[in-house]
Parts: sequence; structure tokens; C-alpha cells
Amino acid sequence: MDTFFSQKYCDRCGKELSGGRIMSMFNTDCICMECKKKETELPEYKDAIKADCRL
Ligand SMILES: [Zn+2]
Repeated sequence: MDTFFSQKYCDRCGKELSGGRIMSMFNTDCICMECKKKETELPEYKDAIKADCRL
């Protein structure tokens, strides 16, 4: 989390984060918008949101 704003590359695909960065719903990975989009299309994504709301 402490490197979230300082890291330059996506934890998932290694692409530069110049186009934007966001935290993964599944872990603390800092990912690019492209990976985030793929993540939202996963069937597990809705479950991850539900789990997050329970906190
Ligand atoms: Zn990525």
C-alpha cells in the first residue's frame, strides 16, 4: 500500500501506470486501468465487492 502512489508499473501486467492506477479488488496490487477492466469482468468480482462491503 505504501508504494501505491510511487510505483511506476502495473503489478499485474508490468505496463506503465501513466494512464491511471487503481487498487485491485482481490488484493493490494496496484494495477492499470486495463487490468482493472479485466478484473471487473471476472465472475468473482461481484463476490469480492460483497466481501468488501461486509467489512
Ligand atoms: Zn496492468
